[in-house]
Amino acid sequence: MGIIPAVSSCHEPAGEDIRPSAVDLMELRKDPITRSWVVVGKQESPFAAGACPLCPGSEGQSKTLLALPAGEPWQVRVIPHFDPLYRIEGEPARTAEGIYDRMDLVGAHEVIVETRDHSRTLAEMSDGEIERVLLAFALRIDDLKRDARFKYVTVFKNSGPLAGEEWPHSHSQVVANTFVPRRVLYELRAAREWYQQRERCVFCDIVSQEKRQGKRIVAEQGGFLAFCPYASRVPYETWIIGLSHNSRFEIPDPSASRVDLASLLGRVLRRLVRIAPAYHLVVHTSPNETQTRGELSGFWRSVNDDYHWHIEILPIAGLINKSYGIKETYFNSLAPESAAATLRGFDSG
Ligand SMILES: [Zn+2]
Ligand SMILES: [Zn+2]
Ligand SMILES: [Zn+2]
Repeated sequence: MGIIPAVSSCHEPAGEDIRPSAVDLMELRKDPITRSWVVVGKQESPFAAGACPLCPGSEGQSKTLLALPAGEPWQVRVIPHFDPLYRIEGEPARTAEGIYDRMDLVGAHEVIVETRDHSRTLAEMSDGEIERVLLAFALRIDDLKRDARFKYVTVFKNSGPLAGEEWPHSHSQVVANTFVPRRVLYELRAAREWYQQRERCVFCDIVSQEKRQGKRIVAEQGGFLAFCPYASRVPYETWIIGLSHNSRFEIPDPSASRVDLASLLGRVLRRLVRIAPAYHLVVHTSPNETQTRGELSGFWRSVNDDYHWHIEILPIAGLINKSYGIKETYFNSLAPESAAATLRGFDSG
C-alpha cells in the first residue's frame, strides 16, 4: 500500500551531498526499474504508551479536522496523525540525484477515529455507525483531492495487531500522496488499456461475470456486491464494489444508498472476523483529476469511464502466512470459490 516505511539501511557516501542523511530525514525515493516510490528513513515515535489518544477526553491533544455528527457528541472524529509519515506543508518538488529521483515527504496523514468506544470494532457497529465512518472516508477524500499538490488519496484500515494497527481503538487512516501508489497505478493502466480495446470498464465486466457465475459472490445488498476476486491474493480476500459504474468513491451514486454499502460492509466484516483475527482494508478510488503531470499524463481522458472504485479487504488468517512467502508471485492455498462458499454460509448476525 506504500504506507509501510522501508527499513533504512542506506548510508549515503560523504562528499558532495550536503543534505542530512536519510536516517535523519525521511524522504521518498523512486525505484527507476519498477517506478515504485519508497519511503526511506526512520519514523519518530514521540507518542509514549499511556492513555489512549483516540478516546473521548483526549480531544485537546489534536486538532479536529472533521467530526460526525456535527456538534457533540461525536461518533467519528478525524485528526492529523500524531506521527505523520507525510507533512502537509511544502511543495512536492522532485529532485534528481544522478539518475535517481527523490521527493520530500509532502502529503497528508490523518487518523479517522471511528467510535467513542475504545473496544468497539467496525464489525460490531450498527449500519448507521458504519455509514458515518464511510461518510468520513468520502468527505476526507473529496477535501484532499481539492489540493492540487496531491495525486492520490488513500483510505485504509489495519485492523488487529497482526495487521500492524497502531492503536487498539478502532480507526482508519487517510494518506494523500504526491505520487500514485504502485498498485493503483497498475490498476489505472490496466483499466485504461481494457477500455481502449473494448470501450468497456474492466470492473463492470468483472461485476457482470461474477453475477452471472455466482460462485465467488459473498453477499449482495442494494446496489453493491461483495465477492472473492478470481485471482484472490490471500484466502478470503473480498472486494466490495458498486453495481453501477462510478470511478469516485467519494461521490455517491444517486441510484445506490450508502446505508446499503455500510450494511454490506458490516455483514462481510462480521463473517471475516470469524476466520481471521486481523485484516487490511483499502479504498481504491480515482486519482486527483486536476493532476496531469508525470506518471499521470494521459490517464485522465477516460478515467471516469474506465476506472471504478472498490474496497479491497485482505484478511490475515492463519493459513495466509505462506502466501506472503513469495513476494512477487502470490500463492493462495484456498480457492476463492471455496472461500466465498464458506463466507456465504455464515450468518452475519
Ligand atoms: Zn481509546
Ligand atoms: Zn465500471
Ligand atoms: Zn484495487
